[in-house]
Amino acid sequence: MKTSPALTQKPLAEKDSSEPRLLEQYAKDNFSSTSKEWSEESLYSGVRVRHVQPGDTLSEIFQASEVPSADLSRIMEADAEYLSLETLKPGSELSFLYGSDGEFSGLALRLDAARKIAYMKLPDGRFEYQKLEKDTHWVSEVLRGRIDGSLYASALRSGLTRAQVLLIDQLLGSKLDFRRDLRAGDTFTVMVGHEMTDSHGTGNTRLEAVSLARGSRTLSAFLFDDGNYYNEKGESVTPAFLRWPTQKPFRVSSAFNQNRLHPITGRRSPHNGVDLATPTGTPIVSTGDGTVRRIGNHPYAGKYIDIDHGGAHATRYLHLHKVLVKKGAQVQRGQKIALSGNTGRSTGPHLHFELHINGRPVDPLTADIPTAASVPRGAIARFKEQLSEQLAIMKYAASRSELFTADTPSSLKPKS
Ligand SMILES: [Zn+2]
Repeated sequence: MKTSPALTQKPLAEKDSSEPRLLEQYAKDNFSSTSKEWSEESLYSGVRVRHVQPGDTLSEIFQASEVPSADLSRIMEADAEYLSLETLKPGSELSFLYGSDGEFSGLALRLDAARKIAYMKLPDGRFEYQKLEKDTHWVSEVLRGRIDGSLYASALRSGLTRAQVLLIDQLLGSKLDFRRDLRAGDTFTVMVGHEMTDSHGTGNTRLEAVSLARGSRTLSAFLFDDGNYYNEKGESVTPAFLRWPTQKPFRVSSAFNQNRLHPITGRRSPHNGVDLATPTGTPIVSTGDGTVRRIGNHPYAGKYIDIDHGGAHATRYLHLHKVLVKKGAQVQRGQKIALSGNTGRSTGPHLHFELHINGRPVDPLTADIPTAASVPRGAIARFKEQLSEQLAIMKYAASRSELFTADTPSSLKPKS
């Protein structure tokens, strides 16, 4: 599957013709790869755009848009496998779509300059989740700095974010003690990627490479196209992950399946995680080091936790009985974060566990997870080619902060 399908190539043509044409047209107009910007939605007679205000609730916004509460409930149901609406915050943009008869027919949520989520009303009254994406590419920026005080303070001064500094700590921290081993005058060079669509930034960034020079010794980490970081020798420096979010394996009650068909509608209804038959109260552990990105209580997903593991990895834990961590907390691999439960719309006590790599759900029980391993044998030539490109950029970038208009090394692009 292509990572960023151009919608003109893969429009909503798979749908049968009984579905509302309005949303199809909306998607085409908004996601055509030729359009320079999002189309002006006010041009659509059937679209009302709202921006979330502080203190707004979803039900208030829906009421104000004259949408029946049953539709909100069914949209929440369609969102349960993704939780995209959980990202709503003041300023978020929602587009309410109405058919020619004036009936509410769909909702679009703008995630960033390249992505919208559409919830399309089906003839049976249910809603279907659809991710609409423009093509994106990455532009690299090189940041340099000199240690003056702590690495943390020096790195922030050079323009890195807190999350990026934490990731550098995760990647290189096992090799040296940042507090004790670094001296004033030691230098660091960091390559940060900015995701772009056309000429607009999406706001997504990634740490592509880091090198820390301490006297004659250099410590480095390079992001490879498998989502893992390696040193110059191709040895993994990504902190290892656990396979299971529990202290012992449990029976799989429902497998990961992106092509699952809904038993009634026959439509594709993906299961983006794996269900483990955990009795209520089973300790749940974070499968990797990371930061708690979100905690919530969703009518369908129940109490849940999202953990950002830095770099390409994220995990998600649903239907929890009790959450034991706070939003923003740093957690370690194997740390107890929750007790499993049966909250939300659930057919019985279980844990729904998801692993995302590069923003896409993968089967957590079979995916390649970072272990203390090296670049796979078959990929060594590709890794070395990318490495020499990145080293050259990091060495020769003229200024402290220089945007490369040239593409990121081809090997860093998402795999097709
Ligand atoms: Zn599940």
